[in-house]
Amino acid sequence: MTVDARCTACGACLATCPTGALLPAPRRPLVVEARCTACLECVEICPRGAITPVLVVAAAEAAR
Ligand code: SF4
Ligand code: SF4
Repeated sequence: MTVDARCTACGACLATCPTGALLPAPRRPLVVEARCTACLECVEICPRGAITPVLVVAAAEAAR
């Protein structure tokens, strides 16, 4: 998962992550990839659309 600049640090994703893979950080949550099961609950709950699965980011970069 990546968290981009659209994040307002509202904390909604931290509260919803079932595995504790999102940790509080000063500007935006820190993603602990080793704990992430790719359930996508954080992607769905983020009101800003700031969280993107890494595979989507990789595909977008490959398409450039
Ligand atoms: S839910 Fe979205 S806006 Fe809120 S802290 Fe998480 S990434 Fe940032
Ligand atoms: S995809 Fe699921 S496990 Fe991974 S950070 Fe988001 S809520 Fe947590």
